[in-house]
Amino acid sequence: QYPLSKTITLPTGESYEQPTGLFINNEFVPGKQHKTFEVLNPSTEEEICQVHEARAEDVDAAVDAAEAAFNSEWSLGDPALRGKALFNLADIMEAHKDTLTAIESLDNGKALQSAAGDVGLVIQYLRYCAGYADKLDGRLVETGSNYLNLVRREPLGVCGQIIPWNFPLLMWSWKVGPALASGNTIVLKTAESTPLSALYAAKLAKESGLPAGVLNIVSGFGKITGEAITTHPKIRKVAFTGSTRTGKHIMAGAANSNVKKVTLELGGKSANIVFDDCNVPQTIQNLVTGIFYNSGEVCCAGSRIFIQEGIYNEILSQFKAAAEAVKVGNPFDPETFQGAQTSQQQLDKILGYVEKGKKDGATLITGGERLGNKGYFIKPTLFADVTPKMDIYEEEIFGPFGVITKFKTADEAIALANDSEYGLAAGIHTENLNTAKYVSDRLRAGTVWVNTYNDFHSAVPFGGYKQSGIGREMGEAAFENYTQWKAIRVKI
Ligand code: NAD
Repeated sequence: QYPLSKTITLPTGESYEQPTGLFINNEFVPGKQHKTFEVLNPSTEEEICQVHEARAEDVDAAVDAAEAAFNSEWSLGDPALRGKALFNLADIMEAHKDTLTAIESLDNGKALQSAAGDVGLVIQYLRYCAGYADKLDGRLVETGSNYLNLVRREPLGVCGQIIPWNFPLLMWSWKVGPALASGNTIVLKTAESTPLSALYAAKLAKESGLPAGVLNIVSGFGKITGEAITTHPKIRKVAFTGSTRTGKHIMAGAANSNVKKVTLELGGKSANIVFDDCNVPQTIQNLVTGIFYNSGEVCCAGSRIFIQEGIYNEILSQFKAAAEAVKVGNPFDPETFQGAQTSQQQLDKILGYVEKGKKDGATLITGGERLGNKGYFIKPTLFADVTPKMDIYEEEIFGPFGVITKFKTADEAIALANDSEYGLAAGIHTENLNTAKYVSDRLRAGTVWVNTYNDFHSAVPFGGYKQSGIGREMGEAAFENYTQWKAIRVKI
């Protein structure tokens, strides 16, 4: 049997003990079928370790543990205790933040500076949710003196959560924080390519005193472990972040099994719009952050870049220079901005879109090539003269790959931006408040950033319009997705 933990030496020189088992009822255990799978380092293409794989029977065991924990003081007791549990978890994660950061870089390939940003947001968000635990008040509704109407929020029960590989720990926190704060219990599946940080966080959760069964982590593949969660008769809700295609499939499975509640945070092809009157240096920085941050593996990446004609040439030449100045390479070099893509599959997909772009007549401005021959590195890539019917314009590429289109008027930019089945985010760059207000009111997107991009805060909700999703994460809105209203109408 493969061991339940392995000593790993990080590129920083530090060694740590990586849990590799399934985390069920506060114990690391092997899968019942004793299967494991390989976890690769995307920067070197070498194996980091194996982790144990959960099958349907392991998901059953995790659900049983989560259900027992739900029918306990966890959901019925003083919510301040849940708040305290989450504060303790945030504290212990903060104490181990450098290890968590390094694990995230090692496993995902992202630059250490990106991973450090993620871990900072994780800790901030867990504390935000902890603070909310005892503030989810109910209401007393007045319908005359013959009745007492108590309306209260209750948790949903056992929640299934399925997360992607682009922000493994941050997506873990967006799922775990509000679910636990509001009294649910969890069976969470990590992405098969990036299971390590969530397992390490589970170990910390146990050390922090989180009660057994409240949080269960099952590593495994979508078609087996993910399906078992989506269709499980005792799971009451499924929350998913990933591709729109898989999201549709999950929604159908959730409906057909037992009408699970569903929250989906799906793909995007977000517009980043540059007006003639923008602040140029700030805009260039936001365009770079928009499409090259986290190696472009960002659901809300500013991947469709619209530039107004008066400033087109200036922005194009400065953006090209900035793209060529992006430091790509070893994620553990503190200067690196763009690390490796997470998998060979992603690298191949992105390079495939380079060929499509060229074939369809777009102009390759820079990049479009793999960097080196070991590790999944790719040069920051920009195409200009991109038109709406091209695949590179319409489809989510999920890499450091921006497509550029010229426009004349604000209304034309709005029409172009909205001409997409996605609606996750958008950016506007202008010094004119009237333009910012006019355009942001008309964009069909869940988030509109003005003079900034990929800029998150725990208190600000995030989620998609159209096929980019259902429900919201972060902010007060997240708790709507993890509670249901109960009305108790008492006749006096
Ligand atoms: P995916 O959506 O298939 O995978 C995301 C998660 O869903 C993983 O944990 C996976 O195991 C799980 N999953 C897959 N099939 C499942 C199923 N049938 N039932 C339940 N769970 C299932 O994404 P992918 O195949 O890893 O990547 C493909 C493309 O998806 C990417 O190139 C990118 O365009 C997009 N993507 C988007 C996001 C996002 O945040 N919007 C995240 C990851 C990938």
